[in-house]
Amino acid sequence: EGGWTGVNERTFIAVKPDGVQRRLLGEIVRRFEKRGFKLVAVKLVKASEELLREHYWQLRNKPFYSTLISYMSSGPVVAMVWQGLDVVKTARKMLGETNPADSLPGTIRGDFCVEVGKNVIHGSDSVESAQKEIALWFRQSELHRWESSTKTWIY
Ligand code: ADP
Ligand code: MG
Repeated sequence: EGGWTGVNERTFIAVKPDGVQRRLLGEIVRRFEKRGFKLVAVKLVKASEELLREHYWQLRNKPFYSTLISYMSSGPVVAMVWQGLDVVKTARKMLGETNPADSLPGTIRGDFCVEVGKNVIHGSDSVESAQKEIALWFRQSELHRWESSTKTWIY
């Protein structure tokens, strides 16, 4: 579809299997809601290896690639799409750094994990990646269109 910018910008967020097992879903959703973003799609999925290989295609030559795929296959993930002004960049700030050891307290990774190999959450790194990832994980019909019903909302 494309064309999602400004207040309609969207990002793909996934609570990874460790985050789901550790019951961090509510806390994570709460942070996105309270920040002022709108939930556009959400589902609990046991991702196939094929989907995960596609999702992490750019990392296919990294030494940790197969560990990463088995980690992401180890249980269900909660796939979500969030919408709002600058959501891609802001979500990455809310997540913290890739390595939890470099993540400041107050960020999701900085508050809830210590290992780069079990870092609780994924967030798209650019608007372009977000569009690809949303298309990979969701059908168009699973995405809610807020804009027409919420023109009078402050957020
Ligand atoms: P991010 O998730 O912050 O965008 P990357 O795209 O670089 O980070 O890496 C994707 C995921 O691969 C990370 O979130 C993490 O789960 C895993 N990963 C990255 N680097 C390492 C590493 N050195 N060892 C193990 N796993 C890693
Ligand atoms: Mg990444």
